[in-house]
Amino acid sequence: MERSRSMTLFPVVLLSCAAMFASAALAARTEPSGAEPAGEAPARAEPARAPAQGAGMGGAAATRPDPARDVEVVQVADGVHVFIHPDATESWPQGNTVVIEGDRGLVVVDSAYLPSTARADIGRIRKLTSKPVRYLLNTHWHYDHNLGNSVYLEAFPQAEIIAHEATRRIMNARVAGYPARVLAPDSQAQKDLKGMRETLASAKSPAGEPLSEEGRVRLERDVAAREAEMAEFKTFEYQAPTLTFDQDLTLYMGGREVQIRHLYRGNTPGDAFVYLPGEKILITGDLLVSPIPFAFNSYPSEWIRTLQALAALDARVIVSGHGAIQRDGAYLREVAALLESVVDQVRQATERGLRLDDARKAVDVGPFRLRMTGDDKEKNDIFNEVFLTPIVERAYQEATGQL
Ligand SMILES: [Zn+2]
Repeated sequence: MERSRSMTLFPVVLLSCAAMFASAALAARTEPSGAEPAGEAPARAEPARAPAQGAGMGGAAATRPDPARDVEVVQVADGVHVFIHPDATESWPQGNTVVIEGDRGLVVVDSAYLPSTARADIGRIRKLTSKPVRYLLNTHWHYDHNLGNSVYLEAFPQAEIIAHEATRRIMNARVAGYPARVLAPDSQAQKDLKGMRETLASAKSPAGEPLSEEGRVRLERDVAAREAEMAEFKTFEYQAPTLTFDQDLTLYMGGREVQIRHLYRGNTPGDAFVYLPGEKILITGDLLVSPIPFAFNSYPSEWIRTLQALAALDARVIVSGHGAIQRDGAYLREVAALLESVVDQVRQATERGLRLDDARKAVDVGPFRLRMTGDDKEKNDIFNEVFLTPIVERAYQEATGQL
């Protein structure tokens, strides 16, 4: 998932000291887009944090990244385990990782954001089985799903890293240099960290309000997480996918069939998903993120077609890119219907000649929003920021021939 957050996403207790980060965070991760092929990569944002989706915690815990949370390991079938990760920092989540056991080796889906998380996952894998990782799939190019690639190859030199051709191309253009961009002296991440340290040192917000005890503890934790992230990035080694595919690739892992597919552009230009027909398990990458979908730089109509095809698989277990494991297709169908509603409404708005700002006002997704947010203010803010605002823009671009 990508970006981003604003002060509205901070809990009230932190609002005062968060204020200084708000505009910075919104601007954060924004980079010139010249490095990648036109139309393929996010034009305006690094894929930073989409806030609430982290790890299916539900309730208030799901409304803010929490690097202190423990990894959750869930077995969804014999020989199929999901690692639901803690967030890397207060601004970065980490995608779910799935480990699929075959007769002679393993398939791993996504390698997290922090190399240290990938390393810990490999330790967990070695406790589960002595079989080697033979394939690692990167479901898409966003950093929170593939920065651990080199750690896997270090541990399993014979492994192949699979990705869609477009994903590999964009990873080479953007992921390879990402840690260095974070570490640059004038980076937004450095400015954020400096600001957080100053707030801690003064125990006061930029507005001069005293920092609460809870705010101080949280800020200390956030600073430590950012420092750890940067320390890791100093020795980061980029590892590109070693094996690409265009539409489909099926791995026959002894008794288990692992279908890797790409249908259309959706969340990114090169989304891959995995289906295990024998077990009826679907692994979606960020084509599906719960509890609130994530829409920056997406391709709305093709995304709908993809989700409809995924729903038709009638999977028994759905592992989304972030968030809790789904045991039926209800949420998947809900997201597809929500996207359809937005695309329809935006198309009608453009047919009436409305400009983007007016089209925004014309779009009403009230019932969907209510079901996804429970009318919780913080979740509503997140819904607006990571879903509604970007999806209307993308649908508008699509309806006016700009995508
Ligand atoms: Zn993600």
